[in-house]
Amino acid sequence: MSCFTEEHDLLRETCRSFAEKELKPFAQKHDEDESFNHNAFKKMGPLGVLGITIPESFGGGGSDAVGATIVMEEFGRCCASSALSYLAHSILCVNNIYVNGSEEQKRIYLPKLCSGESVGGMAMTEPAHGSDMIFMETRAEKRGDRYFLTGTKTFITNGAQGDLFVVYARTGDAGAKGISAFIVEKGFKGFSVGKKLEKLGMRGSPTTELVFNGCEVPAGNLLGKLNNGTAQMMKTLDIERTTIAGISLGIARAAVETMLWYGEERRQFERPILDFQFVQKLLADAEMEYQAASSLVYNVADRLSKGERVTKDVAAAKLFAAESATRAGNSAIQVLGGYGYTREYPAERLLRDAKLMEIGAGTNEIMRHIIVRELRKNAS
Ligand SMILES: Cc1cc2nc3c(=O)[nH]c(=O)nc-3n(C[C@H](O)[C@H](O)[C@H](O)COP(=O)(O)OP(=O)(O)OC[C@H]3O[C@@H](n4cnc5c(N)ncnc54)[C@H](O)[C@@H]3O)c2cc1C
Repeated sequence: MSCFTEEHDLLRETCRSFAEKELKPFAQKHDEDESFNHNAFKKMGPLGVLGITIPESFGGGGSDAVGATIVMEEFGRCCASSALSYLAHSILCVNNIYVNGSEEQKRIYLPKLCSGESVGGMAMTEPAHGSDMIFMETRAEKRGDRYFLTGTKTFITNGAQGDLFVVYARTGDAGAKGISAFIVEKGFKGFSVGKKLEKLGMRGSPTTELVFNGCEVPAGNLLGKLNNGTAQMMKTLDIERTTIAGISLGIARAAVETMLWYGEERRQFERPILDFQFVQKLLADAEMEYQAASSLVYNVADRLSKGERVTKDVAAAKLFAAESATRAGNSAIQVLGGYGYTREYPAERLLRDAKLMEIGAGTNEIMRHIIVRELRKNAS
């Protein structure tokens, strides 16, 4: 693709061989026992990808949205769960602190996050508020030199193993303009990790509730400006959705490769099943959709890197990549027949993992809503 530089190609090569060695062989185990691949995460520090979008002076990788999407695709191809945890850390937390944080906050938090000493996450969703997060109920009240946070967040990626989180809470009036962001460390008084959620897919990326019981946060840990949390969140949403679409690309790629490999190996009626045109259709369509999704996703990543406003096209790219990944995972099961339905082969995991891509960072319905909203806005 024309947006790929030599650095991007090298990054892809490096991440591919890392993921083949450190993620793929362990993906099934972590899926089975719902555990996090700590080993691989620690090794991502020296690899230079834990702060992929931020400058090297903070320990980051100094790359752009295209580079970050490449890492997501390569990690997602070998273990989508690890890619999701990596995304929560490197984009939802690290990139957010870099974009919205003060110099002091960056100096204190970013080097540890980039080296892998600290694991990061982001907490916005609540039990009663997901798509309508602007109605969130977690409150932060200022008393003296501290904010006291009270409420519960849910579906938090890296909740179990995270050391610090970007947490959104209400500091003002109802609605979008009364929300602020905070950097909360797991050791702060009043912070605890709640229930661990048992999931259909992405099981190697632990998801938990986070409970704030008058959690004491120093006033200096307000991230960005007071009551500006929604605007700050909107500023980073495009890169979050673009890079999560990179995970969809990785899952779709893995499905294509699985179908190709198995279709050549498996013989029925004394010939490889890939000789049968109905089977060829499943593989051909998955490859076609992968190519189309890849063009869309890297196009918006490139335009984002150039500073363009691409909200509508990011929604379209995320939506199409997610639906393509789900269809590809489903086709992979079909091509593998009965074996595809078992846990002995990766096809069923691909489908289970892909389904999250249609929900996380904004559901398919919300993506469609954004596309139409932006079209109408542009037309009026
Ligand atoms: C594995 C996993 C990891 C996650 N990680 C994080 C994380 O790290 N941090 C975090 O803050 N959150 C995280 N989330 C939360 C995720 O972003 C939300 O699940 C998502 O935004 C949807 O919110 P909801 O689940 O409350 O669904 P709801 O908003 O209740 O939606 C339910 C259904 O209603 C539809 N719907 C809602 N509103 C509309 C509308 N206006 N128009 C049309 N349809 C609508 C939705 O599309 C959906 O089909 C994670 C979720 C999962 C499952």
